[in-house]
Amino acid sequence: MRTQLVIHHSADPSKAPQFDKINGYHKSKGFPKSSLGYWVGYNFLIEHSGEVRQARALTDHGAHTDAMCDGGHCNSVAYGICLAGDFTKADPRPEQLAALFILWKSLGYPKLLLHSDVKKTTCPGGFPFRNELQLRWLDDIRKQLASALKALPRFLGTLRGNMLGRKIERLENIIDENEH
Ligand SMILES: [Zn+2]
Repeated sequence: MRTQLVIHHSADPSKAPQFDKINGYHKSKGFPKSSLGYWVGYNFLIEHSGEVRQARALTDHGAHTDAMCDGGHCNSVAYGICLAGDFTKADPRPEQLAALFILWKSLGYPKLLLHSDVKKTTCPGGFPFRNELQLRWLDDIRKQLASALKALPRFLGTLRGNMLGRKIERLENIIDENEH
């Protein structure tokens, strides 16, 4: 697993699916073909609709960032994810951000880099991707903790009435109060 992730935008505001267009463009630029049979330089493209298209296996060499990341060339030490859109002019859509969060989580929360962090470029525009993803991470953790605590009494039901049971009930009450 790579420990870094570079976020890109396609700089194309078109709402239609962009995967095939980018595939043709990157083929024309001579990008190496991936083991999945595509020329798209990113590991993943998130379409305007939020649909995720994988172009490169996680072990494939990327062709998305001509720059150095921590520990080597970004194309070999960082995943590349591109969101369809031009975020110098508009924000990514909620469906795209939700998909980006799920991808980031499934990749083991690699360090978040913007293309503009490692190279002089306007990619991926001005949207605060790091803040957005970190807030979603906090919210996700909070929900997981709340649901784990709620499940506890089911497993420890026989302990109700004793000291541990009462402590669990107090924790549940605290969670409930925070949710309302
Ligand atoms: Zn970029």
